[in-house]
Amino acid sequence: REEQIVHIKELIKERDVKFIVLQLADIQGTAKSITLPVNQLNKIIDNEVMFDGSSIDGFARIEESDMYLYPDLSTFVILPWKTHNGTTVARLICDVYMPDGGYFEGCPRYVLRRALEKAKEMGYSFYVGPEPEFYIFNKDEKGEPVLENNDKAGYFDMAPLDKGEDVREVISTALEGLGFEVEASHHECGPGQHEIDFKYADALSTADNIITFRYVVRKIADDLGLLASFMPKPVEGIAGSGMHLNMSLFKGDKNIFFDPDAKNQLSDEAVYFVGGLLKHAKGLTAITNPLVNSYKRLVPGYEAPVYIAWSHQNRSPLVRIPAKRGLSTRVELRNPDPACNPYLALATVLMAGLDGIENKIEPPKSVNKNIYAMDLDERLEKDIQALPMSLYEAIKELMNDDIVKDALGKHVTEKFISGKLKEWNSYREKVHKWEIDEYLRGY
Ligand code: GLU
Ligand code: MG
Ligand code: MG
Repeated sequence: REEQIVHIKELIKERDVKFIVLQLADIQGTAKSITLPVNQLNKIIDNEVMFDGSSIDGFARIEESDMYLYPDLSTFVILPWKTHNGTTVARLICDVYMPDGGYFEGCPRYVLRRALEKAKEMGYSFYVGPEPEFYIFNKDEKGEPVLENNDKAGYFDMAPLDKGEDVREVISTALEGLGFEVEASHHECGPGQHEIDFKYADALSTADNIITFRYVVRKIADDLGLLASFMPKPVEGIAGSGMHLNMSLFKGDKNIFFDPDAKNQLSDEAVYFVGGLLKHAKGLTAITNPLVNSYKRLVPGYEAPVYIAWSHQNRSPLVRIPAKRGLSTRVELRNPDPACNPYLALATVLMAGLDGIENKIEPPKSVNKNIYAMDLDERLEKDIQALPMSLYEAIKELMNDDIVKDALGKHVTEKFISGKLKEWNSYREKVHKWEIDEYLRGY
């Protein structure tokens, strides 16, 4: 820690950093921040920066609103761009603590730390590589986004069809400036849809990275006069945006999902982990797919999962085992979308998988056939169930899943559910265009 502090101080001097942004995430996974001039550095490092927790959604009541920011010094980076005034700014991601020095139960980073601690007790470290997808839209003369772009390209297309190539390049460069290792960036299926994959890391770093990634993508697009959106299904009739999670468990430097002698070279742990994911799939969905709009993506025909099943090849089931083996052996969970709170998503998904390992939960037989093409009888015969079809259904499933609720803890479970019920009710009370089109004349 002393070394880290010396290093940070050196960098600040060398690069003439003027401000430090302290960043945290609320229960929805929205990034919040407070900016301090660099002369406050000692206070920051000594964990003495206070903020009003009651002003952050789902955090605290007025009576207990004093909270402290404890920066995680390993997250220090200097932002690769200057502000409009030409100053250089650094950022630190923080954990939230109570005045008595205890962890704040509502801090999403704490929820993930607690789950990782449990994995550690079982001897595991958890690694995750995400595949976030997003759309880029134009803005009109007034600067309002329109659901259009000049892009007619599709999956893996190249310029000049792919108008997003330049934008992706600027984004990738900025990400690298922030220390990301960008592994691949490509055009996705939808016009204006893109994916940028960055290197897998331990789950806490990955969750931090997802928050930073969303911020960078939106900021760069905005600088270029465009709107980048992680909304799961912005345009009906074309692909939605997912954020598949590629997961593995390590013991030391050994990927324990790989077993060269086992069937499909998948260890028992890997298979049980899948068993846990499938068992808790319904209860997890409110966390991995948290918006009313998320459920417009989880429909047949767009490579987004609808049914609770696993497979070694095809892309219709919830869980896929990519062909890579050895150190890269992994389980790909395909329902999460990029609107989720990554801390809560990784914590709950991990606990579901660990439940599978602890209780030796056998998954059903894998399905190596396109499930969208099966009829109801065939699905019933194979006992393939569907994911929740609406946010409301997902909330009810969450209420019935003790493993997921335990992973979140009491505070987050309550705040999350009450916030989501509010969101659902606000949607439910509106009369939508579809209803007018469908019913007004005929009834
Ligand atoms: N966009 C698809 C989804 O909603 C995923 C496409 C892919 O396989 O990358 O999950
Ligand atoms: Mg993709
Ligand atoms: Mg994928």
